[in-house]
Amino acid sequence: MKEISVNADPIKEFIARHHNEIFERLKIMVNIDSYSHDREGVNRIGTKMKEFLDGFGIPHVTRPQDKYGDHIIATLKGNKPGKILLMGHMDTVFPPGEVLKRPFTEDDTYVYGPGVSDMQAGLISILYATAAIKQSGIDMCDMEILFTPDEEIGSPSSRSIIEERAKDAMAVFNLEPGRPDGSVVTSRKGSAHLKFHIQGKAAHSGLFIEQGISAIEELGYKIVELRKLMDLERGITINVGLVSGGVNTNVVAPEATGTIHFGFWTVKDYEETMERIRNIIHTSYVAGTKNTLSGSLSFLPMERHEGVDQMFEMVKAVAATLNIELTELAAKGASDAGFTASLGKPTICGMGPVGGKWHNLDEYMIKDTCIPRIQLLAISIVAAFHRFSK
Ligand SMILES: [Zn+2]
Repeated sequence: MKEISVNADPIKEFIARHHNEIFERLKIMVNIDSYSHDREGVNRIGTKMKEFLDGFGIPHVTRPQDKYGDHIIATLKGNKPGKILLMGHMDTVFPPGEVLKRPFTEDDTYVYGPGVSDMQAGLISILYATAAIKQSGIDMCDMEILFTPDEEIGSPSSRSIIEERAKDAMAVFNLEPGRPDGSVVTSRKGSAHLKFHIQGKAAHSGLFIEQGISAIEELGYKIVELRKLMDLERGITINVGLVSGGVNTNVVAPEATGTIHFGFWTVKDYEETMERIRNIIHTSYVAGTKNTLSGSLSFLPMERHEGVDQMFEMVKAVAATLNIELTELAAKGASDAGFTASLGKPTICGMGPVGGKWHNLDEYMIKDTCIPRIQLLAISIVAAFHRFSK
């Protein structure tokens, strides 16, 4: 780490010097509504990102999308071979109008506002870390920035582009917020959202009950069987969260539906349990019912494989040079880091400034962590180039 800590001074100074500008830009960003389903709102964040990139002289391309906001890919060319990928999502969970109700505010310790921590502060971190490396003139490989529009709804338009951009990356940094205790994230659960439909046969339950086939009865069996797949110790969770069915009290239910949220820590658990879910859904516990299953995987899990391990050890060593004692944790929530980690790429998540209460009215970011975390990010990017280049 010696060589890196020597070269890191101009990077650290650049970031520290831009303290006020960083907070001003964060305020501008937080005060833009950017709900995942509000294409124009997310693109307004995208426009800001592009303005900032232009200001720093970092070239970028836009990949237009129909349904969600556009993807932005920026590239800072290095003088050495290889590529490091930085990822940030521009969307928040808050519908339009939220900013009007509770715009960016601050006190001595915290800043508040919709998406301040998840992840406007992460987006700002990417910009300033990249700009700091650019102006330092340090030996470096290519750096690629990917800004995505739809992480909060499972990255439907982003998964393929994330996988495409990660393919030739040596390492990946995802800028979800640092956890409330300052930890970065080295493993995450994956999740699947499924829906099943049961077709039975209607009959008057007073007169001809024996002619009916009850879809609701079938639903009952399935719920009990699905519940048996749950294994909290292994972190396999199954929740039948929505059910509907039937037409009237005195009619044997001709139809019923249910939804399943399925969480897991490993791809192996996903595949094994998914097979069992399929079996349960396709079994007719009540003779004559017809069953279909739809929906799919939302996020792959981020498994703590060797590459993730190496990333954490490296970032932890960089943190020590900044007098930060960095810890790691496993997060139950999924993120885009799962897609890149599942490709086997050295990946780290939760690299953003420290915050908490995400998706909540009390969401905060701890002001004092902002500059150090951007410095940590920037120097770790350079360290990753040294660590992972062949
Ligand atoms: Zn997020």
